[in-house]
Amino acid sequence: MRHTVTVNRKRDKQQNVDPSDAMRVAASWGRRFGLYDESGDRGEPQARTKGKKLRPVCGDLVTAAPLDGESDWLIDAVLPRDNELARPDMRGRREVLAANVEMLIVVACVEPLVDWYIVDRYLAAAEQMHCEAAIVWNKSDLSPSSDELDVFASIGYPIIHTDTKSGIGIDELADIMRGKRSIFVGQSGVGKSSLINAIASDDVQRTGNISNASGEGKHTTVAATLLHLGDGIEVIDSPGVRDYAPSLKDITDAASGFVEIRETAHDCRFADCLHRAEPDCAVKAAVENGDISERRYQSYLRLVQLTRQLNQGKH
Ligand code: GDP
Ligand code: ZN
Repeated sequence: MRHTVTVNRKRDKQQNVDPSDAMRVAASWGRRFGLYDESGDRGEPQARTKGKKLRPVCGDLVTAAPLDGESDWLIDAVLPRDNELARPDMRGRREVLAANVEMLIVVACVEPLVDWYIVDRYLAAAEQMHCEAAIVWNKSDLSPSSDELDVFASIGYPIIHTDTKSGIGIDELADIMRGKRSIFVGQSGVGKSSLINAIASDDVQRTGNISNASGEGKHTTVAATLLHLGDGIEVIDSPGVRDYAPSLKDITDAASGFVEIRETAHDCRFADCLHRAEPDCAVKAAVENGDISERRYQSYLRLVQLTRQLNQGKH
């Protein structure tokens, strides 16, 4: 029997769809999308959506069909997502940047200088998304490492040191990316494009290359692009954002983004402990005896504070 999933076509109409009949959203700009057919039979058409309610993002699986007499295809449904990389927009509403991510890779370096609080928040997003995460320390020719990386390694995150000029670490990075849909995140200028070029085999395909398409897209920024780098490596290149915060429903979700805090919290006296001033807080005790990094704890408190502010401003 074929495995199917149910999609909402309209508010009152549902339909079962075989995911292998779906197309992957490789890029989007405005209301147009570049699609990628994973079976390879249908090429890489460009598409638009049926109705404004449908908001596919990079990484989505969608059902689409060619339009009569047009080169565009029409997307009529988005399949249920495994996860979403999201952030609160200016009004505190959830903005989805990419979907169906299997590994989140935070790229950081010394120039531009890494902000570890942003690294924490990306990793918190990965925890919320239930996807794997890793840190790439690029430009290791400029600075071989950072003490802070040891903290992340002790929590369990893979750390890969790379130098795109000499090629150090590139094979190691390609190895952990193979067979999974990854996303590169990090400040602009850290070397995401250089890493992509270093990993790409000669037959790199810039899927969903919509920059050549009809005028509409030329001056709009592409939100994120899915690239097939060959050898089973698929990566979503996201535009560098100056700041990032995960979109959390509630302040109690902040702790789940910090693995060591989440795990230690089982020993707090209160199940709903926020690890601030509560008595018998195992997290605070672990910070005091050095088992949990003071900086990571402060980062957690900042995320609680930020989430409260963002959710209060929501309307
Ligand atoms: P992106 O904005 O994250 O895509 O960053 P780019 O790939 O455009 O790189 C930004 C700048 O950093 C460019 O001038 C690159 O040549 C430089 N760069 C990238 N990787 C390395 C590296 O490993 N070492 C050094 N020294 N510079 C690098
Ligand atoms: Zn506690």
